[in-house]
Amino acid sequence: MNGIVYERVALIGLGLIASSMFWAIRRAGLATEVTGYARTHETRDTARRIGLCDRVCDDIADAVRDADLVVLAAPVGAMGEIARQIAPHLKPGATVTDVGSVKRAVIDAVAPHLPDNVHFVPGHPLAGTEHSGPESGFAELFDDRWCLIVPVDGSDETAIARLRDLWLGIGAHVEIMEPDHHDLVLAVTSHAPHLIAYTMVGVADDLRRVTDSEVIKYSAAGFRDFTRIAASDPTMWRDVFLNNKDATLEILGRFTEELFALQRAIRTGDGDHLYDYFTRTRAIRRGIIEAGQDTDAPDFGRKKKPK
Ligand code: NAP
Repeated sequence: MNGIVYERVALIGLGLIASSMFWAIRRAGLATEVTGYARTHETRDTARRIGLCDRVCDDIADAVRDADLVVLAAPVGAMGEIARQIAPHLKPGATVTDVGSVKRAVIDAVAPHLPDNVHFVPGHPLAGTEHSGPESGFAELFDDRWCLIVPVDGSDETAIARLRDLWLGIGAHVEIMEPDHHDLVLAVTSHAPHLIAYTMVGVADDLRRVTDSEVIKYSAAGFRDFTRIAASDPTMWRDVFLNNKDATLEILGRFTEELFALQRAIRTGDGDHLYDYFTRTRAIRRGIIEAGQDTDAPDFGRKKKPK
């Protein structure tokens, strides 16, 4: 039990991130009541069936009324419209945060709608899986992962500290970051890699000389890991690319240049270039393991299936 951080929390959007937050908030006893709202009644009914949230509301206004913290956990492209809808019903002094994978575009879309007597403190937990929806969440998702808090100009220090306490109670490590820097860091570490995975899986699908059954049967680590990333939610990722355009395009430009250099090294038989490059990338992998952000278990962390 970590103790109550907010009396009432409202989760808007009830997918992977919101449901994981709910289970983690409950695990640590961080709120007295958590309300929830999702766009479709199917999702709201599923949430009720599995006990997700103390109260699931059919009306977004009922979900946020009296909430001390409102968490926007819908796709990035929907956040502005949600902010517009909830604005008149927010409690004075409440904090509004979000979990969107892009920050500058969300800030630009949400901030203009919020009344002056409400604190806006954007955030982004760096944890996820390729699954989505209310049934995909679990309390441990954020354990030992980073959550970036990305204050806007004039964000209240007390409101920032309180949100930080919530994420610490949820099990994450917290760091403060500036919005444009966040978008560049995430373009490198998440957005461009996702686009590359989507492309690689698309290419394999297009290569008719390799049959579908061969792709599936022989997809050892490498392609198999691309397919896991490329199974991520299409709506979420469409919105990420449309809303983090500049940083993603900058990183993809760099990626293309490096790819051409590697292509040339292969064509000209420049083994030293390839060896040096792969030695450098291997060190980055070691750094990630040493920072506790992945395990060095063999076979990409998968257990062998019994014969
Ligand atoms: P998800 O599992 O696909 O769930 C999205 C939820 O948002 C659903 O409950 C959906 O409701 C609801 N929603 C969609 N449009 C809405 C609207 N206009 N109004 C109200 N609710 C709406 O998504 P997620 O993976 O939890 O992602 C949520 C946010 O977290 C996104 O902004 C994403 O960028 C960010 N994020 C995701 C990850 C990840 O790896 N998945 C990691 C960090 C941050 P219905 O089911 O009723 O349509």
